[in-house]
Amino acid sequence: MLELTIEQISMGQSAVDKTAALQLLAERLVADGLVAEGYLAGLQAREAQGSTFLGQGIAIPHGTPQTRELVHATGVRLLQFPEGVDWGDGQIVYLAIGIAARSDEHLRLLQLLTRALGETDLAQALRRAGSAEALLKLLQGAPQELALDAQMIGLGVPAEDFEELVWRGARLLRRADCAGNGFAAVLQQVEALPLGDGLWWLHSEQTVRKPGLAFVTPQQPLRYLGQPLNGLFCLASLGAAHQALLERLCTLLIEGRAQELFRATSSRAVLEVLGGELPADWPSVRVGLANAHGLHARPAKELAQLAKAFEGEVRVRVVDSGEAAVSVKSLSKLLSLGARRGQVLEFIAEPSVADSALPALLAAVQAGLGEAVEALAPVSEVAAPQVLEPVLSAPLPGTQVQGVAASPGIACGPAHVQVLRHFDYPLRGESPVIERDRLQRALAAVASELEALIRRSPAKAIREIFVTHQEMLSDPGLGDEVELRLLQGESAPAAWMTVIEAAARQQEALHDALLAERAADLRDVGRRVLATLCGAAEVAEPQQPYVLVMDEVGPSDVARLDPARVAGILTARGGATAHSAIVARALGIPAVVGAGAAVLLIAAGTELLLDGQRGRLTVAPAADELQRALAEREQREQRLQAARARRLEPAVTRDGHAVEVFANIGESAGIEQVIYLGAEGIGLLRTELIFMAHPQVPDEATQEAEYRRVLDGLQGRPLVVRTLDVGGDKPLPYWPIAKEENPFLGVRGIRLTLQRPQVMESQLRALLRAAGERPLRIMFPMVGQVEEWRQARAMVERLRQEIPVGDLQVGIMIEVPSAALLAPVLAPEVDFFSVGTNDLTQYTLAIDRGHPSLSAQADGLHPAVLQLIDITVRAAHAHGKWVGICGELAADPQAVAVLVGLGVDELSVAARSIAEVKAVVRELNFEQARQLARDALVQGSAADVRARVEMH
Ligand code: PEP
Ligand code: MG
Repeated sequence: MLELTIEQISMGQSAVDKTAALQLLAERLVADGLVAEGYLAGLQAREAQGSTFLGQGIAIPHGTPQTRELVHATGVRLLQFPEGVDWGDGQIVYLAIGIAARSDEHLRLLQLLTRALGETDLAQALRRAGSAEALLKLLQGAPQELALDAQMIGLGVPAEDFEELVWRGARLLRRADCAGNGFAAVLQQVEALPLGDGLWWLHSEQTVRKPGLAFVTPQQPLRYLGQPLNGLFCLASLGAAHQALLERLCTLLIEGRAQELFRATSSRAVLEVLGGELPADWPSVRVGLANAHGLHARPAKELAQLAKAFEGEVRVRVVDSGEAAVSVKSLSKLLSLGARRGQVLEFIAEPSVADSALPALLAAVQAGLGEAVEALAPVSEVAAPQVLEPVLSAPLPGTQVQGVAASPGIACGPAHVQVLRHFDYPLRGESPVIERDRLQRALAAVASELEALIRRSPAKAIREIFVTHQEMLSDPGLGDEVELRLLQGESAPAAWMTVIEAAARQQEALHDALLAERAADLRDVGRRVLATLCGAAEVAEPQQPYVLVMDEVGPSDVARLDPARVAGILTARGGATAHSAIVARALGIPAVVGAGAAVLLIAAGTELLLDGQRGRLTVAPAADELQRALAEREQREQRLQAARARRLEPAVTRDGHAVEVFANIGESAGIEQVIYLGAEGIGLLRTELIFMAHPQVPDEATQEAEYRRVLDGLQGRPLVVRTLDVGGDKPLPYWPIAKEENPFLGVRGIRLTLQRPQVMESQLRALLRAAGERPLRIMFPMVGQVEEWRQARAMVERLRQEIPVGDLQVGIMIEVPSAALLAPVLAPEVDFFSVGTNDLTQYTLAIDRGHPSLSAQADGLHPAVLQLIDITVRAAHAHGKWVGICGELAADPQAVAVLVGLGVDELSVAARSIAEVKAVVRELNFEQARQLARDALVQGSAADVRARVEMH
């Protein structure tokens, strides 16, 4: 049965012509397992028989009776083409709905679309839809109703002339999401219609998302074109939604009741006259927000989820912000409030749910919305400036702060603290000329700052980021919007930040990972300009290598780091297996993460000493301590140098026990360097990184070439490949997966690929073809059930008949406790196990590996995790199979002795760590390591295990 859901929709696609659009659709249908390769021919043949253009900018490509056999499952996939695709005869398609169906099920689709097709102007609305949700609404919804409620009425607004009043009206429409950013500019071009009695009317369909009417009256008497200007209607017009209102308004004017509108003192009075939605006298409660980082994504998500449990409407606003209340159920709207610690939230609920919803929301906010919070002073005092003083204080000189060891090494240098600063600026400017001049000077200053950064950055990837920032600064679209606001009297910082924020949100709304990153860039460069405008230039980077202090370092932040300037990384939040920590290790920058919010208060320039091995920070260390640390660093450097010199030799313990040391990689590029650094093979090829580097599922040939490059580079050394591990928290942008409450416990890894066998088959084929006679090891991620393994193995066995290979082993990753506990059952069937300690630790200890405050405790040396590894190794060895470790634990020098002692045969680590891990192995005595491992298994905590290792 065909149904429409947001998961089927891909927004913001582009295709040069109909052929390209059909190709995209076919790829989507194949990738999602609905049809087999070859369906494209059916789509093309059907178009050749007659265009599938439906009208209203929609086409419904589908196959022919001859290609029905290629359909695996009934379904549809929708591609939005905002730039339009010529479907022949001048018909422009903005939405192509590709159908996979064996019979005439597309008729059901027509039935689903009939209401939408009755709507006028649907094509433009489809083109402009900013999100899959909005698009679906357009398709399914009845003709939309005109939005007209209290939030659309602005009485006595400050306006000096007609243009400014127009801008006020347009702003109300934009806030209600009726129109896009440029709507004010659009209205300025339209000829205003005088309705009589000083009332004026403007309307346009351009950039309209949903129909809405705003009514604004000026604070002071104004005139326009020689007539009074008492009030202005601004209509975001879509279809015939405003028809009834217009008729009512005409009657009103004929009856001579215009002044009831422009003399009204409340929006309720205006709505009563116009027949709009009356403001409700809903119960409300207020509560101060105590979360240290405000209402950011995680607490906002908690709040939205809680609100969804109530049937009725619940809204929230930030008291004193002047902004309207938003639905608590919408995560994006909650984030758009930008609520900070210390601000007061007002929750307003529909009477039918107020009794239950308001106390629950109040209690949840007071409890911190899933975060540990420092209580605020009572609400009455919240507004008083003294209680807004930070509750935390910076650690004193000489203090040691324990964080999480995220990347080994000792670093020292001045603190370079990068936290979002808050700027105060007036909303109204002195005059458009003065504000324009200030803005231009700030833009020029930032442009030359960026120029300098580009010149100074050695890495191309980093330079490209700043070039993108430059382009953003000179974007004429942004400039026009800002100019409009300056003309309307806004100050330069207010105009600039409003436009930047709106543009960033628009990009985020497209639900595209790349565009979301661009949104972060836009905010980044936007704040750079703001800082200059507010006279608070960015804190200059220290000249000497520094310790970067941040709240949390995202992977993209790490990508921008220049390892020559950043001596170390210190974060307030995050854990050792967070992505950023993994990248820091790959770059070889010592890092301590999760050190607590107080580190953000450290004064810029304070000397810091980081011990990335022990996870320890010393603030302004005493001279002798610094000396000791530097001496230790020197020794470590010498040890590493010695280790590097022997990186190509095998890792054998003093008493002759050999351990293989392999590398973890995510792409073929740089494989020669990996071998140079001493890898004896690849122990984990994270193939999802290859998939993520492509805008669509890479086809078989592309994958084969990539795998072939790795095998060529390995020159006969073994390659352990993990099949695609996406889903859950790691979605592929082009692979829609239904939203899940607990993505880590959801459809990810093998669970997902078994649901999309075509993708898995094509990956396996590419691997087998690339391998030929060379040693290939294939393993499946996230196996938790024996049946999953058997299905996956059966697929490999079948394909192997088709594509013979000379040296293949098939195994599983041990990442889920159930797999470890089932190791005795699995061992006879597999060729090997590879333990993914990152996931195994998170699932054993029930701690999200990316959890901002808890992940610090997710230590893979926890005896419970070690017990599972022990079970795995014993079972494997009993059946003559080998066991590797490919999680981050394998590179932790303290863990190496324990893992070797447990009998692990192979350690797979980031290439940079190979030499060090080999050196640690060479220092060991296997018998003693076995004793250490036995001891570790009976400890009570990871800390106890680490203490044992230190003693060892
Ligand atoms: C693991 O879970 O330990 C692992 C190696 O896989 P990933 O970190 O890619 O999830
Ligand atoms: Mg994993």
